[in-house]
Amino acid sequence: MLIDNFSRIHNYLRISITDKCNLRCSYCISEDLPHGYFANQIKMSSEEIEKIASVFVKLGVNKIRITGGEPLVRKDAEKILRNLAKFPVELVITTNGVFVDEFINVFKEIGIKSVNVSLDTLKKDRFIEITRRDEFVRVKNNIDLLLENNFHVKVNAVLQRGINDDEIIDFIDWTKDTPVHVRFIEFMPFSGNDWQNHKVISHKQTLDEISKKFHFIELINEKNDTAKKYFVPNHKGTFAIISTMTQPFCSTCNRLRLTSDGKLYNCLFGKEETDLLTALRNNIDIEQLIINNVKNKYFMLGGNNENENWGIKNIDTRKKSMINIGG
Ligand code: SAM
Repeated sequence: MLIDNFSRIHNYLRISITDKCNLRCSYCISEDLPHGYFANQIKMSSEEIEKIASVFVKLGVNKIRITGGEPLVRKDAEKILRNLAKFPVELVITTNGVFVDEFINVFKEIGIKSVNVSLDTLKKDRFIEITRRDEFVRVKNNIDLLLENNFHVKVNAVLQRGINDDEIIDFIDWTKDTPVHVRFIEFMPFSGNDWQNHKVISHKQTLDEISKKFHFIELINEKNDTAKKYFVPNHKGTFAIISTMTQPFCSTCNRLRLTSDGKLYNCLFGKEETDLLTALRNNIDIEQLIINNVKNKYFMLGGNNENENWGIKNIDTRKKSMINIGG
């Protein structure tokens, strides 16, 4: 079992299989990426992903999330999914939804039951502004397709003041007749994403806005949940808030992150990495490297918690973005 110095058991691995993405969401990826940014990146082969994952499984990981970048743009994404599905784990995926129609049969065949789709707006024009790509209709249709096929669908919406905070009620309205689970995510600071503290819509502000129109009830959270879940009586779907900035959930964290170039991070905001891919390629035993990485995990926010309410005051997080780390 992977246990850190604070007795937290780590049984959940998020694997970024690529840092490439077909969208250009302004809060995630810098508009002025240097030319050739994505070219010739070292990345794990499908066999290496399988090998590294097998060591995590041996060490007690029982849930794996495939993410990115956009995982479904990787040419051998299907092979990777099929390989990982052989492990005794709950396999889930986070995607921007654009290519779901091409993969839905694979998801069904390999037993994926839950899919997280990112969608920050319910308006087509605004989608183009946020993502810099015209894919709203395809994403929305693919969410419907997943629901028709009985997948558990969580929709991730990053709220930003002045960008999409006027749609909070529209998202809740959507859950009335549609069994989607909307998760509002507090906007987090990363390299090149123009984060400013006044743009963060906090957990409290989101709830205050929803309570103007709806009466809602808090659901009981599971031990390692990052999202605080709620439901409006008689709605088919639910909503939740991921409050990384204003109410971090580090005390029950069970997550580890493997980047597409094979680096292990034990925290989204951590600065220390363990290069598992190079070790694997040099025939070094990665089991002990993983154990040590977890042992050295900080209690909170990758050690960035000197300030109370750190996230709002301190934007000096890692000089990376979600596409590198894997969201
Ligand atoms: N391409 C996939 C997708 O769109 O879901 C997976 C990768 S994406 C980086 C994973 C999640 O990170 C998305 O839900 C996205 O909204 C979220 N994300 C990216 N940048 C963020 C930020 N600055 N603050 C909060 N969430 C962010």
